[in-house]
Amino acid sequence: MNISAETGAIIVAAGKGRRVGGPLPKQWRDLAGRTVLARALDAFLEHPEIGPIALVLAAEDMAMAPGYEGHGGLTVVEGGASRAESVRAGLLALEGHALRDVLIHDAARPLVSAALISRVIAALREHEGAAPAVPLADALWRGENGMVQEIVPRAGLYRAQTPQGFRFTPILAAHGAFRGDPSDDVEVARAAGIEVAIVPGEERNLKITTEEDFARARMFLAADGKGDAQMDIRIGNGFDVHAFAEGDSLTLCGVRIPHDRALSGHSDADVGMHALTDAIYGALADGDIGRHFPPSDPQWKGADSAILLEHACSRMRARGYALANADITLICEAPKIGPHADAMAARLAGIMDLPPGKISVKATTTEKLGFAGRNEGIAALAVVQLVRP
Ligand code: MG
Repeated sequence: MNISAETGAIIVAAGKGRRVGGPLPKQWRDLAGRTVLARALDAFLEHPEIGPIALVLAAEDMAMAPGYEGHGGLTVVEGGASRAESVRAGLLALEGHALRDVLIHDAARPLVSAALISRVIAALREHEGAAPAVPLADALWRGENGMVQEIVPRAGLYRAQTPQGFRFTPILAAHGAFRGDPSDDVEVARAAGIEVAIVPGEERNLKITTEEDFARARMFLAADGKGDAQMDIRIGNGFDVHAFAEGDSLTLCGVRIPHDRALSGHSDADVGMHALTDAIYGALADGDIGRHFPPSDPQWKGADSAILLEHACSRMRARGYALANADITLICEAPKIGPHADAMAARLAGIMDLPPGKISVKATTTEKLGFAGRNEGIAALAVVQLVRP
């Protein structure tokens, strides 16, 4: 038997989700200073037993390919509509290398270790297929309508991971023959009669799906002292002014205050909440209120500014940040803010779903100087700090 020692790898990163202005697909997101994809790819590029690598990208991501093609032994190929089609594209790209074995890995597992890759390669010396898995530790239930229906015995149950390794020619044939939507390459292999050995997986080889997974992955990297894994801290500031107009009350930081004037402006002219909202957008480098809620759009006329603040908070949480604290200063001669400051902080905290102790609302005058001093309007300053663990 003529056995080539070479083992190739396919990194599948063809996940969709790229929309202009929408969230980045997770493989392109930052994980402690590098993209998820770059971390997964490096584990294979740096592994001494891995030869040629096919990186499979979504069609809309192929513009990013030149940044990767400088690496020796790396071919970037366009994926298909399904994961299985993308793996097939990767296999075809490696076909000319006459490889004995190939490892197929999901880019969404960026913390795969060199030791784990070695274990899969070692198992392939004796088996036609080998893949890492972790025995189930939690109890397993079958449930329906929020109620436990059945306890499922967990003996012999595993959580499957990647990289999954196979003899090259049989897995290429197996992918060509498979019909349907397999959950992984082991399913494709077994359908073709390929025996797959289980090698010990690793908890740190997690598949990144949720924000919580990003946080766990950062903790693993921080524990290794690897990369720029420290907490990500951002600061934003906001400033807003609204002029007084005829009226009998005004809304400041979500609290309605009787007064002999009102505030004029877009939405409900809540100058304090606008400054706070802009501070959050600022910390995220995500534009300002005017970009997200154009003044030309009549639907926001007279609108409750809580909608704006909730929008900024949802953008913040979607990117994994939490608000550490906010400090708001209202600048006016009248009305008196002091008696309402605690209610304002509580109202803002309520909108943001935070404990009131994280929000400060205070006020100052300008000693009768300037527009605020002349009672022409109210100004507001806000500073926020966002943290991502
Ligand atoms: Mg405003």
